Amino acid sequence: MTNFEVRAYDAAGRLGELTVPRAGVTVETPTILPVVNPHVQTVEPSTLESEFGAEILITNSYILHGSDDLRDPALDRGLHDLLDFSGAIMTDSGSFQLSEYGEIDVTTEEILRFQRDIGSDIGTPVDIPTPPDVDREQAEAELATTQERLERAVDADTGEMLVTAPVQGSTYPDLRERAARDAKSTGLDVFPLGAVVPLMNEYRYADLADVVAACKRGLGESGPVHLFGAGHPMMFAMAAALGCDLFDSAAYALYARDDRYLTVRGTEHLDDMEYFPCQCPICTDHTPAELAGMAEKVRGELLARHNLHVTYGEIRTVRQAIRSGTLLELVDARARGHPTMLDGYRALLDHAEQLERTDRVSKGTFFYTSAESARRPEVLRHHERLDRFDIDGDEVLLTEGGSNDRYDETWGVRPPFGPYPRDLGDTYPLTAEVPDRADRVAHEAAADGVARLVELHPDVSFTLVHDDWAATALERVPERVRLRDLHARE
Ligand SMILES: [Zn+2]
Repeated sequence: MTNFEVRAYDAAGRLGELTVPRAGVTVETPTILPVVNPHVQTVEPSTLESEFGAEILITNSYILHGSDDLRDPALDRGLHDLLDFSGAIMTDSGSFQLSEYGEIDVTTEEILRFQRDIGSDIGTPVDIPTPPDVDREQAEAELATTQERLERAVDADTGEMLVTAPVQGSTYPDLRERAARDAKSTGLDVFPLGAVVPLMNEYRYADLADVVAACKRGLGESGPVHLFGAGHPMMFAMAAALGCDLFDSAAYALYARDDRYLTVRGTEHLDDMEYFPCQCPICTDHTPAELAGMAEKVRGELLARHNLHVTYGEIRTVRQAIRSGTLLELVDARARGHPTMLDGYRALLDHAEQLERTDRVSKGTFFYTSAESARRPEVLRHHERLDRFDIDGDEVLLTEGGSNDRYDETWGVRPPFGPYPRDLGDTYPLTAEVPDRADRVAHEAAADGVARLVELHPDVSFTLVHDDWAATALERVPERVRLRDLHARE
């Protein structure tokens, strides 16, 4: 039985459909789950549904369980009626409170039963969120407790409710990978990657990329992956490209309360803004000065609405990018918003081999938009697949220019891919748009392709005609290759 189907891939990013049987709905992914505080609703759940198209939200069952005002109404009327929301409702279990206050007063069995009884569609056991950088012993011990609770969750009577299997393991990639494999083996339905909020709060996007990549190695392609607590739109593209399907956001409301304004490039403070760089109804109808002059509650709600518009807008942008095969170009663009995001993108590219496994073989046109493009999975794949081609002859010309009859065979050369059989020149990714002023890194990647081909054919003699490659690239070409510059006079 599977509740999750992938319709399209781009890198490890997925367009998918999560079927939530208890709610009778299918949720399109990637998506965001707005966090709804049962006590304080900055934007009503019915508004999230009607104005923003929310198909799913998340609320905290532990808060409801502990609330004298809301526990009985939740049990009597059910969550959907209580919150006035007809889509899917996921519930958290109190793990966050556990990590903040050190203890909570429910067991996994109790809170899962309560979640089932209030009509939650996706329930969560009480896992132990182990923060980054703790001792390995602590991470291992807490992981063992989490795993034991996941096994108890499997045995619990949860009816039609989907149940999550959170993946912990702190900042130890091998523990994350093992935890993910164990979570997968439970057969539970949704896989939240836990305790990553501290990494995001500290802008440690490279560490975040490594953690997500490790979890994905353990999970494989089974089930939807939820990046727990990730609510800033600036990092959706990167997280999606690594294979995350679900995000949740309290940020839209929490930031608004502090007059903070979300953009896909980062966060602005209302006091520092003279213009709104956004086309949503809030930003079209108001200036920052007008908003600043409003009463706190009204201002907070309007800012929360803007934050939701930009959040859902970025989710649609990510989906469209996966659909059109341009997700990595989007990640590249978003990475320019902050140097730590660029670190995150570079760390993501360290896992290019992993991303290559699910990447589409054919897309639109590869755009070379930065030196990072030279490290994309498509370049790696091209180099790996050079062993699929035979060479017929002793003298081979590799050239960025035209063919020459003096050679037995002529191959094309194109930075950052390197050499390719000429009849492949019209196929992806060799149709790439590369700037005429290609950078050193593109030349170096092409030189690595040449080196790989030369190594595969020790008995063939090669001549490389390049278009003014950087010296650092020419150094990477094996010595036995004769070199000529395309524009040098013979
Ligand atoms: Zn706006």
